[in-house]
Amino acid sequence: MSFSDETKRELARIKPEKPCCMLSEISALTQSCASLRFQGRGRISIVYKTENMALAKRLFLLLKLRLNLIPVIEYASVGRFGGRRICTLTLKDQDAKQLMLSLRMLKTTEAGLPILRGIPRSAYTKRCCRGAYLRGAFLGSGMLLNPEKGYLLRFSSSDPALIRGIHGMLEKSGILSSVKLSDEGAELRVTQGDGISAFLTLTGAHTSMMKMEDIRIRRESKNRANRAANCDQGNLKKQLQTAQKQAAALLTLLDRKDVPDEILETARLRLDHMDATVEELRMFFDPPLSKSGAYHRLQKAVRYANEQSM
Ligand SMILES: [Zn+2]
Repeated sequence: MSFSDETKRELARIKPEKPCCMLSEISALTQSCASLRFQGRGRISIVYKTENMALAKRLFLLLKLRLNLIPVIEYASVGRFGGRRICTLTLKDQDAKQLMLSLRMLKTTEAGLPILRGIPRSAYTKRCCRGAYLRGAFLGSGMLLNPEKGYLLRFSSSDPALIRGIHGMLEKSGILSSVKLSDEGAELRVTQGDGISAFLTLTGAHTSMMKMEDIRIRRESKNRANRAANCDQGNLKKQLQTAQKQAAALLTLLDRKDVPDEILETARLRLDHMDATVEELRMFFDPPLSKSGAYHRLQKAVRYANEQSM
């Protein structure tokens, strides 16, 4: 089972508790996996479609517990060889209207026309409802990449209003996300490990969150070790290049007669002890120099050699 499916399974098992949160979750599920059908003479029905049986069960439970609505359940197989199994939950006429009124998706105006509205207010104002809304949205339209492969939480929908709503709620919870709109709809992405962890905590997927943190710690310590190794190698290469350049310049001094003693001594010591660090080299001077003293002597000798060769 993929990490995404595991997380969904965990979320679908969370026991519904507060009425406010139940409504928020129903709202997100309705926006992400339901369609509204007009059947003439003012009759409407709402049809939820999902391949996720745990989600279908949860939806049934939420509608019954919170709104006392019992949808009609049907199963269908898609594909010639009994491929995917799809579950539909249908609410008709009065039940559909009641659901939409409860979710504030329908408002009767003086002209009697229905007005579709967005997300329930409590989902913006209350943290508990925000978590419940995001849980519903993820169950209906989300995907989570296995953190071993990388950090990606993605929502996609043909309804830009749903994606904008999720974006606003994540922002309110301090989780960074980016939104992309296209002709087919909208997509939202969270690509930071911190953000995904915070999302899992907020929606109540604590087991998935701990699994993710575990992988993150392992990945990050591996990255740190790699970075340190690369850095060491880089430094070593740089040190070798510098030493070789110095040696080439200093070598030109040895055969000359007019070189000041102090510079000649420095050049000899450097060439005799090519592997030595400045810290080690300083001890070969007579008397020994301080580290910065040895460093300046070296610089001076190299400068002198370079000037002479010009
Ligand atoms: Zn709530």
